[in-house]
Amino acid sequence: MTAIRHALTVKREDDFAQWYQEVVSAADMAEESGVRGCMVIKPWGFGIWERMQALMDRRIKAAGVQNAYFPLFIPLSNFVREAEHVEGFAKEMAVVTHHRLIADGKGGLMPDPEAQLEEPLIVRPTSETIIGDAMSRWIQSWRDLPLMLNQWANVVRWEMRTRMFLRTSEFLWQEGHTAHETREDAMAETLRALEMYRAFAEDDAAIPVIVGEKPANERFPGAVATFSIEAMMQDGKALQAGTSHYLGTSFADAASIRFQDREGGQQLCHTTSWGVSTRMVGAMIMTHGDDDGLRVPPALAPFQVVILPMLRENEGDAALLAYCDELHAQLLAQSAFGEPLRVLLDKKPGKAAAKRWDWVRKGAPLIVEVGPRDMENGKVAVLRRDRLWNDAAKPDFAFTLRDEFAGQASDLLADVQQALYNEARERREANIVTGIDSLEALKAFFAEDKRYPGWAEVQWARPEGEGLDKVVEQLKALKLTFRNVPLDAAPADGTCLFTGQPAVERIYVARAY
Ligand code: AMP
Repeated sequence: MTAIRHALTVKREDDFAQWYQEVVSAADMAEESGVRGCMVIKPWGFGIWERMQALMDRRIKAAGVQNAYFPLFIPLSNFVREAEHVEGFAKEMAVVTHHRLIADGKGGLMPDPEAQLEEPLIVRPTSETIIGDAMSRWIQSWRDLPLMLNQWANVVRWEMRTRMFLRTSEFLWQEGHTAHETREDAMAETLRALEMYRAFAEDDAAIPVIVGEKPANERFPGAVATFSIEAMMQDGKALQAGTSHYLGTSFADAASIRFQDREGGQQLCHTTSWGVSTRMVGAMIMTHGDDDGLRVPPALAPFQVVILPMLRENEGDAALLAYCDELHAQLLAQSAFGEPLRVLLDKKPGKAAAKRWDWVRKGAPLIVEVGPRDMENGKVAVLRRDRLWNDAAKPDFAFTLRDEFAGQASDLLADVQQALYNEARERREANIVTGIDSLEALKAFFAEDKRYPGWAEVQWARPEGEGLDKVVEQLKALKLTFRNVPLDAAPADGTCLFTGQPAVERIYVARAY
């Protein structure tokens, strides 16, 4: 068999990190900005994020959560009120101390000492403390509850090791913040948001996820319980793709979010928060990308179908364009995933083959090429991005009647979406090991020479305090982390891998981003 000539220079199996960087640039998604840890998100990358926003926003609103917007700057004193919260974020906060610059006498500028802020302002790393202030003003009685808010915003966390989309110093996200009468109500909302994230990841992004609770050492600073969705990337590493926190009453206590209860007494609210960020774009790349570039699940693709007329820059082009215009109009009248199809007729000058490979690298789900001969036969040549190559190592075009293709496009897109999900799910199932019952066996499974070892499901006794610290240290020495305790796991029936005591639950262990 002839070898396939792939559209990228680096293969996943040779250097996954390098491959990831190449996809980000070859798919024209983002670039480094020159500002530490901050990226420029280019139109194709941002278009995918906008699709994520649109789909998530719909889910958020369907749950009765309302969007609002809160300030970028948070007074330092707000943070100090919740001790664990400030301790967790102190190491990575950007602080504004001045509001004016003056000449420094050397031809440059410096902060004006006269213009020092009385109280420093923090560039928000997350907004619990400022939204809590608003909640304390807006909530008086149980009739005001639940109060369910969401904001779409950028946040800043001074991350040490950054990587585009996955971990940046400034990132874009949505943060949900809700206040409730009871613990039960707040916990129900925490789990509702978690299920919303699962559905978003699996149904919209075609990324299979494990839904579960984080162990105590991985909790959000100040939270009583943190839940996550965890996805397996193609190198076997785990990525936390979304989190939902039950915050108890400590944030309410700090911000004085109280309500008059049904009996006339004063009580603290139970609050939650939950977020999904631009990291999800990175999750999509590392779940679905291949050695030819990105493969965007159709529900997330800014353009689901790209029509490429093979223009010759001669008088034949007008008829070819008219033929493609008709297809364009036919497709725009169709819908997929409950929305009109998103179709681009790419009329840009340039060789059709070069344009084809650009769209392959960008991962458009269906690429439709139309040459003069196709037109004569009333046909088009359709390339499915998820199955690019045929057995002869050539792009696997399906030559279809144009009008037939127009009628099938929605079904094809649904099929691509499902195929991407299935592929990722099968890969994950094949790379999870169960039944590891000793640290030695765990070590062997994650042995250095095995490049992409996957995850291990182990049983443990969930030690607390120093006991937990010790276990976390043991894992750290193996470059491993706890991921989560799946909500739907079978009950424990063995002994704890770390302590030898009877196990109380199952938990995933993996290398992680
Ligand atoms: P958290 O507020 O820490 O629970 O994080 C909320 C969401 O943002 C989670 O889905 C995280 O995976 C994601 N996230 C956290 N830090 C970053 C970062 N530096 N860059 C991108 N996403 C992040």
